[in-house]
Amino acid sequence: MPNRLDRGFQKYQEEIESAALKVLRSGWYVLGPEVESFEKEFASYVNSKYCVGLANGLDALWLSFRVLGIGAGDEVIVQGNTYIASVMGITINGATPVFVEPDEFFNIDVSKIEEKITPKTKAILVVHLYGQASKMDEVVTLCQKYNLRLVEDCAQSHGACYKGQMTGTFGDIGCFSFYPSKNLGAFGDAGAIVTNDENIAQAMKMYRNYGSEKRYYNKVVGANSRLDEIQAAMLRVRLNYLEDMIAERRAIASRYSAEIDNSKILLPKVGAEGTHVWHQYVIRVQEREKLIVSMKDKGIGTIIHYPIPPHLSEAYAYLGHGKGYLPITEEYANTVLSIPMYNGMTQEEQARVIECLNSF
Ligand SMILES: *Cc1c(COP(=O)(O)O)cnc(C)c1O
Repeated sequence: MPNRLDRGFQKYQEEIESAALKVLRSGWYVLGPEVESFEKEFASYVNSKYCVGLANGLDALWLSFRVLGIGAGDEVIVQGNTYIASVMGITINGATPVFVEPDEFFNIDVSKIEEKITPKTKAILVVHLYGQASKMDEVVTLCQKYNLRLVEDCAQSHGACYKGQMTGTFGDIGCFSFYPSKNLGAFGDAGAIVTNDENIAQAMKMYRNYGSEKRYYNKVVGANSRLDEIQAAMLRVRLNYLEDMIAERRAIASRYSAEIDNSKILLPKVGAEGTHVWHQYVIRVQEREKLIVSMKDKGIGTIIHYPIPPHLSEAYAYLGHGKGYLPITEEYANTVLSIPMYNGMTQEEQARVIECLNSF
């Protein structure tokens, strides 16, 4: 029983299918009226002026740094324990990621950012990991003090707020992924950025379509990162139910937190000022391999987000950071485990997971 993405579809099946069918019959398949409507509706949902639909979350990240003019010779601060896409968004542009350790909530430890700022630092990339909003006050203050750009990786935090404000709206750009497993998931790849800056929105629209604003007039070397009509149409249906889906995940999370009771297992903590949308319910356990096997034996799937932190992955060997460079990040990588969390999970399914964890 890994995460069952089909359940989240079945509940709204008719509406999603008819939205898709409407596009199939329309004869307009890429960047059209559905994308435009989704952009308006998503911007309004997060309370931002603009949204630009893109092909995926990684494009949202790297195109953001491209549009902000951040590249070779520049440094971007990011937490060590993130999905590698956050880091690739920086390095695709030739910029250097500067890693900061996470706090007890798995988000960037805001008290350790300032010591990493150098004259080369151009931006901070905040990742609202697992769906919990990071502490944004401190980050915003640092960005103002040192004149840094602020980009948010909201691929896991659709709908999460810090002090009542939606993640993605605190800085220059908020980056979203709508990969099928995300809390707002398409049925294929999709992504978007949100921004309050008209120039950034316009530049992003140019970059996503080969760097052209007017057909065959290319101002910059861009990308093909257009959003499909069919994905936008299905995302519009899901966006209408996002708050319900988040509420359902919160109910699952509170039951886990109330009923998992095993001294070997550390439960996730939620801060007082931010909200959590539970993209993942991440526990920590020292005997992780044993637990994975015992759950697998009972048909329960688990996932490690993420077993190898970016600074230790082969792709980033060139940065020259060895084992021990980020002890907290590495400790998390060795002990975190995501247990089943999906819309449409039944009470009985969850009871089996809890029983398995409590008897470990
Ligand atoms: C999923 C994810 C991305 C990348 O999104 P894609 O749509 O898969 O390219 C980036 N950052 C984080 C934190 C993610 O979870």
